[in-house]
Amino acid sequence: MQFSRPRGTRDFLPEEMARRRYVEKVMRETFESYGYREIQTPVFESLELIAAKSGEDIVKHLYSFKDKSGRSLALRPELTLPVMRLYINELQRKPKPIKLYYFENCFRYEEPQAGRYREFWQAGIELIGTSYPEGEAEVIAIAVEVLEKLGLKDFELHIGSIGILRKILRESGVKEKEQGKILHLIDKGEREKLENLLKKLKISGENKRILLGILNLSGEKKEVVSKARELLKGRAALEEIEKFESILRFLDLKVQKYSLNLGIARGLDYYSGTVFEIYANRLGAQKQICGGGAYSLAGMLGGEETPTCGFAFGFDRVMLALEAEKEMNIDSKTHVLVVPVSESLLGDAVKISSIIRKSASCELDLMRRKLGRALAYANSEGIPFVVIVGDEELAKGCVTLRDMKTGEQKEIKLSELERIGEKL
Ligand code: AMP
Repeated sequence: MQFSRPRGTRDFLPEEMARRRYVEKVMRETFESYGYREIQTPVFESLELIAAKSGEDIVKHLYSFKDKSGRSLALRPELTLPVMRLYINELQRKPKPIKLYYFENCFRYEEPQAGRYREFWQAGIELIGTSYPEGEAEVIAIAVEVLEKLGLKDFELHIGSIGILRKILRESGVKEKEQGKILHLIDKGEREKLENLLKKLKISGENKRILLGILNLSGEKKEVVSKARELLKGRAALEEIEKFESILRFLDLKVQKYSLNLGIARGLDYYSGTVFEIYANRLGAQKQICGGGAYSLAGMLGGEETPTCGFAFGFDRVMLALEAEKEMNIDSKTHVLVVPVSESLLGDAVKISSIIRKSASCELDLMRRKLGRALAYANSEGIPFVVIVGDEELAKGCVTLRDMKTGEQKEIKLSELERIGEKL
């Protein structure tokens, strides 16, 4: 009997893994170049932690279970909550800002489709301990820099402000819990349900007009900001627009192209300030490849309140976006195949392989193939060089190096093998 993968999961074959590892490397190097350092948290957390603050949509899709001692646990659906738990447990007393990054798998029991999986990967950063606009702007710029370094062309950055929305709701007397519900409906684009809820919460005509007016604002910076200012004249939410603008001024120093969309609400409960999403339009329904913003979690999780912001790339979707745009031929192949011409030379071939590995990736032929077959194997696998170990050459302290592309063969000294990688 054969077994198949659980629904919504994937196997990754070597070529795909090579592409994934390359993209991962670019992400890690970019995060590290800004001083972010990697952390790792458990694959499962207490259900209470995840359920408390993730937001309705995520809680609905949790993989949750009880362990043998009856503890309620959940596989992590994202990483911001675990990272903040770790921060409160381990790093609260450290000098600020604290810059953390992660690259991990996450689990959501969603209906699988292109770009939506039950196991998927997130790569993200969290900046903890500063609320200065240059910090928030830097976080957004890092996400864009990663995509530019990867050579992705067709993507759009959209920036909004949950801070403005929350201020309007607070001024309208809406409690925190209800704010979450409203933001959730905004995120889902459920306008009718939103209007019904606003009615139920008795949000007055004027407050409703302002909220809906703000939600509809999207497009170019100058226009959106001036319309928002007009709508919020004389209201506390105006202060949020000023904060928002100062972030954008810093962002303008690094990122040339973006749109504002004050209707972005994000699906997670903890966002509190500027928020952003990046879309790769070629991906259709699952086009959101990155999401992030400023959030308040430390206080809610029992720590000291501290400003925080961050983002997560949907790593799998970044891969899909890149592959939709260009061919990604990442070289992960072996460089040298070592073939002894007879079994009696196997021991020498083992030793020679070890020497070659000091500067190049090298495979010893483990099938005891005859030379002709070994060469055919190297050809079919795209291994560019073969080192042939023969008695006569060995007696002279040499081996034969064959260039598979040209068919050219030459003898090289054993003493040169250690640095062969530099010559290939
Ligand atoms: P979120 O934690 O919901 O803000 O998601 C962050 C990013 O993870 C999104 O922008 C998506 O790119 C990605 N993502 C979320 N859910 C899935 C999923 N089921 N499969 C693949 N990627 C996902």
